[in-house]
Amino acid sequence: MRTDREPATAGRAIQVEGLHKSFGALEVLKGIDFSVERGEVVCVIGPSGSGKSTLLRCVNLLEEPTAGRVTVAGTEVTDPDVDIDRVRRRIGMVFQSFNLFPHLTVLENLTIAQRRVLRRDRAAAERTARANLARVGLSDKETAYPAQLSGGQQQRVAIARALSMEPELMLFDEPTSALDPELVGDVLAVMRSLAQDGMTMLVVTHEMSFAREVADRVVFMDGGVIVEEGPPERVVADPQHERTRTFLARVL
Ligand code: ADP
Ligand code: MG
Repeated sequence: MRTDREPATAGRAIQVEGLHKSFGALEVLKGIDFSVERGEVVCVIGPSGSGKSTLLRCVNLLEEPTAGRVTVAGTEVTDPDVDIDRVRRRIGMVFQSFNLFPHLTVLENLTIAQRRVLRRDRAAAERTARANLARVGLSDKETAYPAQLSGGQQQRVAIARALSMEPELMLFDEPTSALDPELVGDVLAVMRSLAQDGMTMLVVTHEMSFAREVADRVVFMDGGVIVEEGPPERVVADPQHERTRTFLARVL
């Protein structure tokens, strides 16, 4: 029997145990167990509707699990007494749709949560924002409005905005799926450099070359379960299960 204070859990970035999630009669997650170590990059792949987004959303409690336990950086987020806002502050999330504030400049998009949530003063917030804009290669865009940027640039701003909160881990849900093909590479390059800097990342993606090159581990989901997981050279290059082979044959 493990206990709440088991060190193996405390050292992990994410630990998911026996996770179930239903929407009414529809059971979307049917018992998920997996973990992400600090500094690890894990890519989640699988067909549309397999529960990938729901899994990600259960990690920061945008969805409430029906059963099971989710622990993030040592804090059990499924504990009913948890201060979820505090936990969410430690988790950066980047979605398919960039969700920038259209009426704010790029710099303001990066400072608003720092000032309101972290209570940083303007100078400190702008310092952090500028450092992160440089990191995503958009230092020249701080006075631009989102509508003046390409989709790829908007997504890089969204990544810089998440980084400005100095999260302990980053969740990405198909961050390049809404982009024109020629804009995908710049976003993946930013994510690759984050990974190289040691950021803990859980990434839902259909970009198999990214998964193969950057992921420490690939998780294949289908029908609300993890069918197989392992290093990309096994799961992507040499899958053990028929369902994984069928999926890869369609996306590769
Ligand atoms: P994926 O990200 O792998 O495409 P999702 O996690 O988005 O899959 O969705 C898995 C299933 O759950 C789908 O059948 C979807 O329609 C359903 N689903 C997701 N969110 C909701 C919701 N809020 N209410 C009802 N059904 C949902
Ligand atoms: Mg999804």
